Amino acid sequence: MKHLKYMTLMLFFICGISSCSEDSMDDRSIFTGTEQQKKEFDNWLLKNYVYPYNIDFKYRLEDHESDHDYNLVPSEYGKSVAIAKLVKFLWIDSYIEVMDDNSEFICTYGPKMIHLVGSPAYEEGQITLGTAEGGLKVTLYNVNNLDPKNPVIEDLNFWYFKTMHHEFSHILHQTIEFPQEFYEISTGKYLGSGWVNVTDEAALKRGFITPYGGSEVHEDFAETIANYVTHDAAWWNKQIIIAGDGATYIQQKLELARTYMQETWNINLDSLRDIVQRRSSEVLDLDLENLND
Ligand SMILES: [Zn+2]
Repeated sequence: MKHLKYMTLMLFFICGISSCSEDSMDDRSIFTGTEQQKKEFDNWLLKNYVYPYNIDFKYRLEDHESDHDYNLVPSEYGKSVAIAKLVKFLWIDSYIEVMDDNSEFICTYGPKMIHLVGSPAYEEGQITLGTAEGGLKVTLYNVNNLDPKNPVIEDLNFWYFKTMHHEFSHILHQTIEFPQEFYEISTGKYLGSGWVNVTDEAALKRGFITPYGGSEVHEDFAETIANYVTHDAAWWNKQIIIAGDGATYIQQKLELARTYMQETWNINLDSLRDIVQRRSSEVLDLDLENLND
């Protein structure tokens, strides 16, 4: 992760793309697991993703599911098992918990497919963290970077869970639009692709929680929610202090997102954050290597 720090500004999401690929599969055993392992994993996925939530969890890199602009590597078998358990524990179960054990919400609005890619997707000096296509499919990259024996929650959030919350926020606002007031807070300040030239601090001072949030209003909304739930109060407060005059705008956006989530989806954003934070602290106790539950 160290070498990635200087590239932070270049990290982004791609939302609403369509894709195809001519990448070839790597069938070394470290990637694919044994036939017996795959069978057990496929059964586990049926029980934990397909039947309860109607989510197809694709851990095999499939040509037609990968963007042909990148040179991609499949996710290793053991890493795929770990990320499948983590996505369920940190993301799916967090929403189910905040909705009082009601799984219908995820069933209806959750992505229909989660697709894993082992490598990051590099292109012209930029790294894609995740992609979502019309709310149907979320792709998580760099899965092979995960260490199932020693998961670091900051890395997990950085690579996978901020992506999951970000993309899911898009699914929600594409289903029912957030209020017009959100558009008005930073109207005229969105930079489009110029966001890559903005530092974290400058973005905060301009009223955006991240530089990428300053690219476009829907990205701003998704970044506000994703960063709020994947960080604790101390982190958020620190950003607010750094923001100075920009703090008012960030807090207004948070307040509108909070009201929207409550009134539109019956989700208390603060409860969701508490749940996500509590579960994040429990990650080290999870068995990410065995499919015993
Ligand atoms: Zn986005």
